[in-house]
Amino acid sequence: MEMKDRKVQMMEEQLQKKLTRQVVASLVGCVHCGMCNDSCHYVMTHPDDPKMTPSYKADQLRKIFKRNHDWTGSVFPWWVKAGKGLTDDDLDGLKDIAFGTCTNCRRCTYNCPMGVDTATLNRIMRGLLSHVGVMPEGVKVVSKDQWEIGNQMGVLKEDYIDTLEWMSEELAEELGHNRAAIPIDKKGAKIVYVINPREVKYDPRTIKKAALIFFAAGEDWTMVSEGWDQTNFGLFSGDDQLGGTCGKRVYDAMEEIGAERLVISECGHGYRSTRCEAVNWSGEEIKFTMESSVMTMLRYIKEGQIKVDKTKNAERFTFHDSCNNARSCGFYEEPRELIDLVTTDFEELEHNRQEGLCCTGGGGAMSMTEYTPRRLRSGEVKANEIAATGAESIITSCHNCVDGLGDVLKHYKMDVKVTQLVDLVAEALVLDEAQKAPDPVVAEVAAPAEVPAVPPVVAKMDEEKEMPADALRGRRILVVDDEEDVRLFLTTVLEDAGATVFIATDGNEAIEVAQREKPDLITLDLSMPGKDGIEAFTELRKTAGLEETPVCVVTGHPEFRKLIYDRPVTPPEGYMDKPVDEGKLVSNIRRILDLREKRQ
Ligand code: SF4
Ligand code: SF4
Repeated sequence: MEMKDRKVQMMEEQLQKKLTRQVVASLVGCVHCGMCNDSCHYVMTHPDDPKMTPSYKADQLRKIFKRNHDWTGSVFPWWVKAGKGLTDDDLDGLKDIAFGTCTNCRRCTYNCPMGVDTATLNRIMRGLLSHVGVMPEGVKVVSKDQWEIGNQMGVLKEDYIDTLEWMSEELAEELGHNRAAIPIDKKGAKIVYVINPREVKYDPRTIKKAALIFFAAGEDWTMVSEGWDQTNFGLFSGDDQLGGTCGKRVYDAMEEIGAERLVISECGHGYRSTRCEAVNWSGEEIKFTMESSVMTMLRYIKEGQIKVDKTKNAERFTFHDSCNNARSCGFYEEPRELIDLVTTDFEELEHNRQEGLCCTGGGGAMSMTEYTPRRLRSGEVKANEIAATGAESIITSCHNCVDGLGDVLKHYKMDVKVTQLVDLVAEALVLDEAQKAPDPVVAEVAAPAEVPAVPPVVAKMDEEKEMPADALRGRRILVVDDEEDVRLFLTTVLEDAGATVFIATDGNEAIEVAQREKPDLITLDLSMPGKDGIEAFTELRKTAGLEETPVCVVTGHPEFRKLIYDRPVTPPEGYMDKPVDEGKLVSNIRRILDLREKRQ
């Protein structure tokens, strides 16, 4: 056999290992009746393209099966439409079908009278292609990060821990005490809470809100420093080995803590992979229970562990069922029960529960930018039905869906926000007086002469609140912002804290001043005329002598957060939303600079 066909041969051999009874049933069960066609959002939005039909996509794998594993197909391939044999040159075309025209949403399966599971077949095709290294670049990069760094967004352990500490600090500032601080690696805790790395990178306040809810419920819980990523790119790439490894990391963390229950933050594919699939992929014996945080929050309210006031969420909401939570895990009613307890105005989408339409971001689609135009076109049906509800916000219990829906809403210019249940429960939460009470102040009573004096107990938060007036003395900071009043505010606050401040009004000037003055840190606005902050940030990271300079983004455009963190460069060291609080600005900058020094 020629070299060029080696990959095909490897794929054919690999398929042999995947042929379970259920897979074979789906391979041989299709009668090409076409009843599933209209259930696929790609067909709905590309009605003239027969290559979008579920049966066409699955037929690509059927042909390999028939030629190699079916007697008639191997002898008379033309008789069973097994096609001509594949060559390695055909694999890029197969990649585009398997990764670019199907989000593995399983809606077609629910509309097939023969029970054919096209998504499972598509995942197998992806797995065969991944096995020989044929996959979109995004899938390669994310899989590599999950293999090598231990989470799919390549978040470093220091940055993860730092984010948890940062969220604990914010909670302490908001509550006036630090009893809600996030526990890390607390041995013997009852619950371990695992998250999606997207929360660390783009949405850390969902972690803070979950911590607040655990605190209000009086829960004995912890987060873990290893095995904290509940997501699993093995589900998307079809690589069962990666899938098993990711699951095992989380299961090992549970074992290490000795917890009874694993709570998985709102993420459809993470919930499906960790709770259902990775147990099989890893072959691990599981001795604890697993649930989505949606179930945890629902139980807290129903059992009176937390109190909520639903009038705090009074706008109109609708709900998007994540394909993985809903169709793949039968998780339909719990989010609705919870929504009913924390909101006052709710309207279902036309297609809901098992009939829900994909957000377009399923199956790892958000990482495959080459297929974005087709994906966005396929979102038209979803956009239309969201508009029909008149909702101001769409709720979803999945981080992937937050991004998928966010892109669709932006593309179709819709003024609808995307939110999650953790946001709504935290908003509706009513703390009791004891939970709101500040830490008791320990009076400095003179100790009896014969007893050694015990130093007064002072909460860590209070120490940090007492940031010295000259917390930034000797620091050189470049403030980049196009708005004069913002520049003036930031400059005054930083100079009052002892820093020497330089200013720049756009991206070009920022690079020029940074090269000249070599500041210790740069605060960077994102939206500026001329060279904007996003471009300037990328350039700073690539400029010799400036690539290591810490950057704290200070922006009034939270929607740009994703853009800045998606750059192929080291992410910024800090991020703050405008309007900026004086104290937080100084403490955040000090924290970034201290952390940098610790690492040097
Ligand atoms: S997958 Fe099912 S519904 Fe679709 S064409 Fe085949 S038999 Fe018909
Ligand atoms: S799994 Fe979803 S995206 Fe894939 S063919 Fe079926 S309906 Fe279409």
